[in-house]
Amino acid sequence: MDEKQREPFVAAMTAIMGKASVLHRYEDLLAYECDGYTIHKGIPGAVLFPANTGEVAAAVAYMHKHKIPFIPRGAGTGLSGGATALNGEVVISLVRMNKLLSVDYLNRKAVVQPGFINLKLSNSISTKGYYYAPDPSSQASCTIGGNVGENAGGAHCLKYGVTTNHVLGLELVLPNGEIVRLGGVPDAPGYDLLGVLTGSEGTMGIVTEITVRILKKPQGVKTVLALYDDVNDASLTVSDIIAAGIVPAALEMMDNTAIEGVESGNYPVGYPRDLGAVLIVEVDGIEAGLQHQIDQVLEVCRKYGVREVRQAADAQERARWWANRKTAFGAMGTISPDYLVQDGVIPRSTLPQVLAKVSEISAKYGLRIANVFHAGDGNLHPLILFDSRVPGEKENAVKAGSEVLKACADVGGSITGEHGVGIEKMEDMRFILSDEEIRVQIGLRQVFNGENLCNPDKIFPKPARCVEVKQYVASSRES
Ligand SMILES: Cc1cc2nc3c(=O)[nH]c(=O)nc-3n(C[C@H](O)[C@H](O)[C@H](O)COP(=O)(O)OP(=O)(O)OC[C@H]3O[C@@H](n4cnc5c(N)ncnc54)[C@H](O)[C@@H]3O)c2cc1C
Repeated sequence: MDEKQREPFVAAMTAIMGKASVLHRYEDLLAYECDGYTIHKGIPGAVLFPANTGEVAAAVAYMHKHKIPFIPRGAGTGLSGGATALNGEVVISLVRMNKLLSVDYLNRKAVVQPGFINLKLSNSISTKGYYYAPDPSSQASCTIGGNVGENAGGAHCLKYGVTTNHVLGLELVLPNGEIVRLGGVPDAPGYDLLGVLTGSEGTMGIVTEITVRILKKPQGVKTVLALYDDVNDASLTVSDIIAAGIVPAALEMMDNTAIEGVESGNYPVGYPRDLGAVLIVEVDGIEAGLQHQIDQVLEVCRKYGVREVRQAADAQERARWWANRKTAFGAMGTISPDYLVQDGVIPRSTLPQVLAKVSEISAKYGLRIANVFHAGDGNLHPLILFDSRVPGEKENAVKAGSEVLKACADVGGSITGEHGVGIEKMEDMRFILSDEEIRVQIGLRQVFNGENLCNPDKIFPKPARCVEVKQYVASSRES
């Protein structure tokens, strides 16, 4: 937005949603300079807090008319820069649209506004015996709108599927301000636009209402920790458990460096510090069959020389183990001033090979890398530890991250399992997609977002524009 546009813009937005819902002073905007991906930052032109779909639509229609680019934002916990305004875009925060609108237990669905916090949904329906399955580790703070934006996953998505498998309908404000509804009826005819929208990282419009599937809580749950001397043996256990036909509700892994972090964090479990790795294996379903599944899991663990197995004695112990795992990213702050979260996907059978490559990359750049991940899905999260006060370390962390993703792509995997591409991995898209395939994808985005005003230039590398983004990033690093 240029300076001439600013005054009438602020007046128009104030008329639509009230003065308190329009931030435009530099010191207020600073809090929105990035999301959870802190490597690249930018100050938005303004931040808006609409309270309903009508206000979103009116604001977007104004910006469409005046060619002002804008970015939807939920809680800003994204880890790839999807909600970051690199070029002064206006940020539209959906956090005031935070209501649970209705729950239909008979048909097992709930309708929420986009700013509704993920964990609040399970908490709101728990007493009736229901829950919402996608459980990103950030679920206490991230919004369901942001989950749709990123097609978020989580520890229990191995058995139950990621966000896209739970979205039944959407209300969307298109980038020209029109309001449309997608899905919402069983087997909606026409193209699967819900599938296209879920994971589109805010580049096709602003989601203003979401209908999601809710599930009946399983009758029973059993959770075990399997402690290994050697990370390789833990990796082999993971692929063998799935190969044996067991589908745990969750199958998570942390390596030695990650254990060092979580044990120094707020929820220590008492893992021995010399462990090579720990697996958290959880099975759920009809009570009667659970011990048999656990026995099968333990047989595989023993085959690979597990050092020790612990079974959760009660719900409190299980909750403590999960709190330890789910706060693992933040706990890295206890062992490193900065860290970069990566998010690659690989075929499970290649886990030992890729983890060896990650160690090589770690040694090459002299940076420690902790591995915390949804092992059952083959979804790696190498956490690259660095100190931004040491010249060159941040740049090396970025290079190391890109090499990790290349290693994932080289074994037939992908560059993102759940955190999206955002600004972080635009160039890394080339590891997976050819120029022609990128053109097809951009063509689809243009159907919704023809003028590229809605979260412009995210996700895909577009040669000319990429150069500009890189120059911007370089200059903001210098300043
Ligand atoms: C400690 C930690 C742990 C995490 N663990 C996981 C995990 O286990 N699994 C996982 O998948 N992710 C995880 N994440 C990443 C992040 O929490 C998810 O990507 C989450 O879905 C982002 O939600 P948000 O509300 O913060 O969205 P934001 O970060 O605000 O936005 C994310 C993207 O969605 C778009 N968007 C937001 N709202 C809307 C809307 N209403 N309409 C259209 N587009 C929109 C934005 O433009 C942006 O591109 C973790 C993050 C942290 C910090």
